[in-house]
Amino acid sequence: MSLLEVKELTKSYNGTLAVDHVSFTLEERTATALIGPNGSGKTTTLSMIAGLLKESEGSIHRDFKSGIGFLPQYPQFFPWLSALEFTEMAAQISGVDGKKVRQQSIRTLEFVGLGSAVNKKTGTFSGGMRQRLGLAQAIVHQPKLLLLDEPVSALDPTGRREIMDLLKSLQQDATILYSTHILNDAEEMTDQLLFLKEGKLVEQGSLSEVKSRYAEPQIRLLFETEQAAVLFESRKLWPMQRDRNVIALPIS
Ligand code: ADP
Repeated sequence: MSLLEVKELTKSYNGTLAVDHVSFTLEERTATALIGPNGSGKTTTLSMIAGLLKESEGSIHRDFKSGIGFLPQYPQFFPWLSALEFTEMAAQISGVDGKKVRQQSIRTLEFVGLGSAVNKKTGTFSGGMRQRLGLAQAIVHQPKLLLLDEPVSALDPTGRREIMDLLKSLQQDATILYSTHILNDAEEMTDQLLFLKEGKLVEQGSLSEVKSRYAEPQIRLLFETEQAAVLFESRKLWPMQRDRNVIALPIS
């Protein structure tokens, strides 16, 4: 059964299209990566699905009652609150039953690996701890749909590995849509990839499916990532592309 249906979703900022008639469906308990370079419309898309931003055109069918969790790219906390106080506040805002707020917050903090930091002030948290706390506030109400904006991009390899493993375990109970500009991060968790380029959904499916749809001369446009910026003109270079965290997309 589909949990999210996005049809012709469009957002323009002062006449400039940031998201351009994007349509896709997510099935229950699946993980999907929204992949594209910076500025391709990932955050805008996730924000609209989360209900934080109004779409200019199109429609989004999702069930707010079954819960939506959102992890922003740069989660913000009140530095004077402890991790537990912050998570409890998030739980209350998300409608967790008052009697269960404490227990569910502690359980969630333990799940994300912050069990020994529940009473620490969030203002003292490292980048990795902030990402874990961001995840905790997104899942404390056990949402059926989890939207994660670049959940691991800012982390070192160890932190990235740990958060990836957490996300994989969440997949048993929730539908996950997460954005990334790093192909390896996308592929590691799922083969359901949505390729976003300049606001348009240019491809969807596993990397091998996408590759197989294009004959040699058609794949050549590449966009920059933090790791590399190279223009490939041949399919022969795909393996190298993977090594270097580079993404190629068909020319529109
Ligand atoms: P991504 O998450 O893939 O980096 P964004 O969704 O943040 O992409 O941005 C998509 C496009 O929309 C970019 O060109 C960006 O400059 C523009 N944009 C995003 N937010 C705003 C805003 N609040 N006002 C004007 N333009 C914006």
